[in-house]
Amino acid sequence: METIIRIAVQKSGRLSDDSLALIKECGIKFYNGTGKLKSTSTNFPIEFLFLRDDDIPGYVADGVADLGIVGENELVEKDKEVNTLKKLGFSKCRLSLAIPKGQDYPGIDFFQGKNIATSYPKILGDFLSAKNINADIHEISGSVEIAPSIGLAEGICDIVSSGSTLMMNGLKEVEEIFKSEAVLIANKELSNAKKEVVEKLLFRMNAVQTGKSSKYVLMNVPNASIDKIIKLIPGMRSPTILPLAQEGWSSVHSVLNEDTFWEHIEELRAAGAEGILVVPIEKMIL
Ligand code: ATP
Ligand code: MG
Repeated sequence: METIIRIAVQKSGRLSDDSLALIKECGIKFYNGTGKLKSTSTNFPIEFLFLRDDDIPGYVADGVADLGIVGENELVEKDKEVNTLKKLGFSKCRLSLAIPKGQDYPGIDFFQGKNIATSYPKILGDFLSAKNINADIHEISGSVEIAPSIGLAEGICDIVSSGSTLMMNGLKEVEEIFKSEAVLIANKELSNAKKEVVEKLLFRMNAVQTGKSSKYVLMNVPNASIDKIIKLIPGMRSPTILPLAQEGWSSVHSVLNEDTFWEHIEELRAAGAEGILVVPIEKMIL
């Protein structure tokens, strides 16, 4: 019988869309009807469990799911034994301490002896003890931002992305304590047969990620500048050069890393390149 792996993904929320998009970009087809808790792919040996993100680390640690996609904040907070296979680059956010806007903030000692409301008692507790701060951590599961205004706490520790929720609640961010993004996690005792399927999935995810961070670049170049241009854009192996219908000109194709392509584009223009096209790459297998 074919080995099927099971992956836990968030049912709905800030992780779910990007998690499912990544899986689709890997060419894996599945039906994701509303309200469904389980689904099986029609073209890859994988089954999906749609869960609350809080439960994902535990299900993967227990082996109910073989893999999971979850934020590092939940992973570290839940403190379960799993392997982290890969950072996924989405659902980026930070956990920060915040206090009422009007309060002076002399530094971390502000929190000495204070009450802090949070949904992340472990991450906050570890941070405070590393800084030798003795504070009362008040665990609440949601709407942490209102705690100071109702007199429940003098400060909060919560997820921040833009800071607008803090502002709406009259709070200001004073310390960033943890940075998070989505990660792919795995059970520690996968069978060899399951590991093989996981490797296939990782291979596809890597191809998607590498593709996203690269661009296919085409440009017209006077033949006299080709040597100079080639030195600027080594490409995957070496650039492709095709003659244009117009004599004395060539079309040069190459792959550039997204992070540096702007800087290269300037150098290429200076070297005489024209009609530069930058095209997204869907997948890239090195
Ligand atoms: P669930 O119902 O599954 O328990 P939740 O309400 O706990 O969902 P979400 O708000 O959907 O969680 O956020 C899921 C994860 O996405 C968070 O744990 C965090 O890793 C990340 N995240 C949270 N807020 C943001 C944000 N504003 N921008 C990007 N990522 C975020
Ligand atoms: Mg949750």
